[in-house]
Amino acid sequence: TRPPRPHRDFTRTRASAKHNPQIRVMQWNILAQALGEGKDGFVRCPMEALNWAERKYLILEEILTYRPDIVCLQEVDHYYDTFQPVMSSLGYQSSFCPKPCSPCLDVRGNNGPDGCALFFNRERFRLLDVHHLRLSAMAIKTNQVAVMATLQCQVTGRVFCVAVTHLKARSGWETLRGAQGANLLQQLKAILSTQQEAVPLVVCGDFNAEPDEEVYRRFLDSPLGLDSAYRTLSADGSTEPSYTTWKIRPSGESRSTLDYVWYTRNGFSVDAVLSMPSEEQIGPDRLPSYHYPSDHLSLICDFSFIQEPHRLM
Ligand code: NDP
Ligand code: CA
Repeated sequence: TRPPRPHRDFTRTRASAKHNPQIRVMQWNILAQALGEGKDGFVRCPMEALNWAERKYLILEEILTYRPDIVCLQEVDHYYDTFQPVMSSLGYQSSFCPKPCSPCLDVRGNNGPDGCALFFNRERFRLLDVHHLRLSAMAIKTNQVAVMATLQCQVTGRVFCVAVTHLKARSGWETLRGAQGANLLQQLKAILSTQQEAVPLVVCGDFNAEPDEEVYRRFLDSPLGLDSAYRTLSADGSTEPSYTTWKIRPSGESRSTLDYVWYTRNGFSVDAVLSMPSEEQIGPDRLPSYHYPSDHLSLICDFSFIQEPHRLM
């Protein structure tokens, strides 16, 4: 018998008003099937645990457990045959942007390129517009992308934007990530400026950068007035969780904080965040495993609109 999925509790960060409906957002790098089987080298994860026919249900179980209103995924290489149709049957509308030259394509028997996908509850929100962004660095196009959507709440009429991205991986690429982050901020700002009124923003991503990297600073100090939602979990309110991914490769064990949910500080309040599983829950072989399908943990936040935002940026 297989071990159960780790149980995680929500930590309430604020007494939320009942009349103010929350928007639940999920950020998750789900691990591309082609990379997990063909490139990553997760030496302590049995190949059997990566079998797509079963693993896809563990990914969907994670989504269904928390039922987010908005789901932001990276490393999606089964959009057309799995996530688009299944999520549609669960009430989500979606948009997928593949990487121009996905590393999945190098893997024998791959299912096409991986990319970023954004899903939203189509009963709750109306899609006003969507952009697929290719990130540049120093005016040169890179292999990284983002999806940005403008949504309107069907009940309250409130408008906001949400974006999902996946920055360049690996050490040695810190300067490139910094430039990609700067370019993403610039492109987001340009799209926001086309709106008739100031609208708040949520940006979910696997930034492939620890909080001490340049790109993190760029987001924290950006003119968009962003803050990182998981900082609210910490005692001092400004420390990120100690890990969002934990894996063992031939090169050794790697425990790092790479995933973030940024939000407009003066536009939303963070009402609750899903706590991270403990080291014991993750287990000695780390991730992925039979009980958790990705090497990255999901991040989930409940936001509510600040009723009368004075200045967003
Ligand atoms: P990245 O370097 O950003 O990483 C791709 C994936 O590799 C990510 O999903 C990342 O996961 C994962 N990864 C990170 N660290 C490791 C590791 N130590 N071992 C194995 N996997 C790891 O990809 P790029 O978009 O820059 O593409 C790189 C690859 O794509 C090239 O090696 C090449 O094969 C192909 N490519 C080909 C081009 C062409 O013209 N033919 C052009 C560009 C790319 P995570 O984010 O979870 O850390
Ligand atoms: Ca990966």
